[in-house]
Amino acid sequence: MNVILLGPPGAGKGTQAEGIVKEYGLVHISTGDMLRAAVKNGTEMGLKAQEYMSKGALVPDEVVVGIVRDRIVEPDCEKGFLLDGFPRTVGQADELDKALKGMGKNIDAVVNIVVEDEELLGRLTGRRICRTCQRPYHVMFKPPATEGACECGGELYQRTDDNVETVKNRLDVYHNQTSPLIEYYSKQGIIVDIDGAKSVNEVFDQINTALKAKV
Ligand code: ADP
Ligand code: ADP
Ligand code: ZN
Repeated sequence: MNVILLGPPGAGKGTQAEGIVKEYGLVHISTGDMLRAAVKNGTEMGLKAQEYMSKGALVPDEVVVGIVRDRIVEPDCEKGFLLDGFPRTVGQADELDKALKGMGKNIDAVVNIVVEDEELLGRLTGRRICRTCQRPYHVMFKPPATEGACECGGELYQRTDDNVETVKNRLDVYHNQTSPLIEYYSKQGIIVDIDGAKSVNEVFDQINTALKAKV
């Protein structure tokens, strides 16, 4: 099964990805995590991507499409994959469809996590991420058992783009460039809407029910 996690920044894609990949044996592919790794490693692509990411703008389609295309042909993706944060534009979605067609594959489900902007602002500005495993926490909604530390022992940090100003840009970018994908995948008849304002466990239950119907 190949699944797309769609939703605005802060909807809970990263949070839910962990449980979904475990339940369905999928490979987790997060373009945000991959781009941040490239930035950290100071690669040429990372340096280019950072200019966009720091402003809350989208990295150009050709860069992100290239990363995803290279990843989904890896042998481990045969068991199925979960795309988290990709596609984010109609152009990316078209390129993904083309690449999958060439491989004789398709997307089985698009999980659309719906949350209002006001809630997203509070989620993103209170988010903390593990430096080691990238797992998201929240200072109020999902505090770590030990302050400043992930379950894996890694150190928690705040992403530089999780500040009020950049978050507002990212929400505008979502509404202008990413939300058209809801109609795009509705037309393909593979989208399921999930109420993302509920608790982490309740959101997971909704996703699980939707995906169980697909396998
Ligand atoms: P995304 O990957 O969609 O940007 P995250 O999974 O990183 O979103 O979640 C954003 C923030 O909101 C994190 O701090 C996370 O702990 C918190 N969060 C995720 N799901 C919920 C939820 N259902 N209720 C409250 N907070 C949540
Ligand atoms: P969030 O958790 O807020 O949804 P991500 O970690 O998915 O954020 O993405 C962080 C940043 O990385 C985005 O603001 C954007 O600059 C870049 N990025 C990630 N995925 C994509 C993509 N598919 N297309 C373009 N840019 C992307
Ligand atoms: Zn960790």
